Amino acid sequence: MSQKKIAVVGAGIVGLSTSYYLQSSGHQVTLYDQNNPGSGTSRGHASVIADYGIPALNQPDVWKNLFRYLFYKDSPLAISWTYIPSLLPWATQFLKNCNVTSMNFTAKTMAGLLKDALPTYQSLLSEINANELITHKGTLYVWMKQKEQPSNAQIKVRQLNNVEQINISKHEIHDLEPNLSDKIKGGWYFPKACHTLNPDKILKKLFNKFIEKNGLFIQERVSSVNNEDKKFNINSQNYDDLVICCGAFSKELVKEIEGKTIPLETERGYHVEYLGMQEYLSRPTCLVESGMYLTPLEYGIRAAGTVELAGNTDQINQSRINFINNNARKLIPKLQDYQNTWLGYRPTLPDCLPVISKSSKFDNLYYAFGHNHLGWTLGPITGKIVTGLINNDKFDNKALEINRFIK
Ligand SMILES: Cc1cc2nc3c(=O)[nH]c(=O)nc-3n(C[C@H](O)[C@H](O)[C@H](O)COP(=O)(O)OP(=O)(O)OC[C@H]3O[C@@H](n4cnc5c(N)ncnc54)[C@H](O)[C@@H]3O)c2cc1C
Repeated sequence: MSQKKIAVVGAGIVGLSTSYYLQSSGHQVTLYDQNNPGSGTSRGHASVIADYGIPALNQPDVWKNLFRYLFYKDSPLAISWTYIPSLLPWATQFLKNCNVTSMNFTAKTMAGLLKDALPTYQSLLSEINANELITHKGTLYVWMKQKEQPSNAQIKVRQLNNVEQINISKHEIHDLEPNLSDKIKGGWYFPKACHTLNPDKILKKLFNKFIEKNGLFIQERVSSVNNEDKKFNINSQNYDDLVICCGAFSKELVKEIEGKTIPLETERGYHVEYLGMQEYLSRPTCLVESGMYLTPLEYGIRAAGTVELAGNTDQINQSRINFINNNARKLIPKLQDYQNTWLGYRPTLPDCLPVISKSSKFDNLYYAFGHNHLGWTLGPITGKIVTGLINNDKFDNKALEINRFIK
């Protein structure tokens, strides 16, 4: 295999992992990001390696809950009224996918990616000397309102895709996590799940390893690329291959290159952090009715979640932060005031599947974005798949192709 000069645009977990694996397989990689590497959505999530994370959002129950999403302040999903017209192309396709067949298809496709996610993560962390930043404690789903517990359909989808899940009583939950509220009625336990203890440190170590091995980083926004003589040109630098990994911001570059608009949206999410309180919790715990996780990190507890459909703006919605804080303190009554807050952008496509594929127009252009709620989990395996595509390994997964949106 010959060494290529490759540009990767976007230095989140997907772009950093892709750069790392391309470089490890002998290519000369230049990574571009308009901001500091690892400073986007990949730093603020719930930090769970959620290899149990199916089904996705496209479930039939969405129809039943639409009224609540639109009108209730205490809903885990909020929609900005002023953003509805811009949301329509994504929303109409997403709603069409909220049926049993599509839910099962998304789940099966995701399960195919998730099955190698954890071992790939573990190897990557070991290669960058970051083993101490991942821990295996499983994950809990708990509920306080009986009617909010996971539906039979959700449990069955996980069963069908071989996810290990254990139904546990409130007493067993209390034994595992004594600081959780005694109002909890029951839960499910995912014993295989792991979580990371400091995403910032992992992203920094991955970036430093890339630079140490002669990777180049250019801090600039890539707004246009030219293709001449089968090479891509970015600001007068020529590359044999180009990979776009811009998360929720990939739509503009796809439009520029393919000349088509894809229905990529963002599900905005927030976190708040309670510094120094990590001893109150041993493992990530999701309060099902709020769609929010509490995760013990090295330096405190992070409460992360909610879905807000309001576009890629950086305007903070304080009521979403209050929602997370109120639910976090409901789950662990001992929690004191929070210190840090953060807003991030989950890249989301209407079938809840990412794009991991070659371009429909150019043989030397690749896409890897749209990882939705599972990008932290799937970043390393995606980087491996993209590296395989560039090295001509066989990866035949039509469900993940960009062509499904570019006709
Ligand atoms: C609240 C919340 C909780 C979550 N919890 C989890 C979880 O527990 N587990 C899990 O697996 N996933 C979780 N996720 C999802 C996960 O965080 C994302 O799917 C993932 O971080 C996306 O990574 P990415 O590399 O695609 O995008 P990003 O991290 O957003 O990186 C994209 C990069 O591209 C750069 N960029 C964009 N446009 C350009 C341009 N034109 N030129 C140059 N650079 C550009 C940006 O600056 C950015 O650095 C959560 C997300 C949220 C919001």
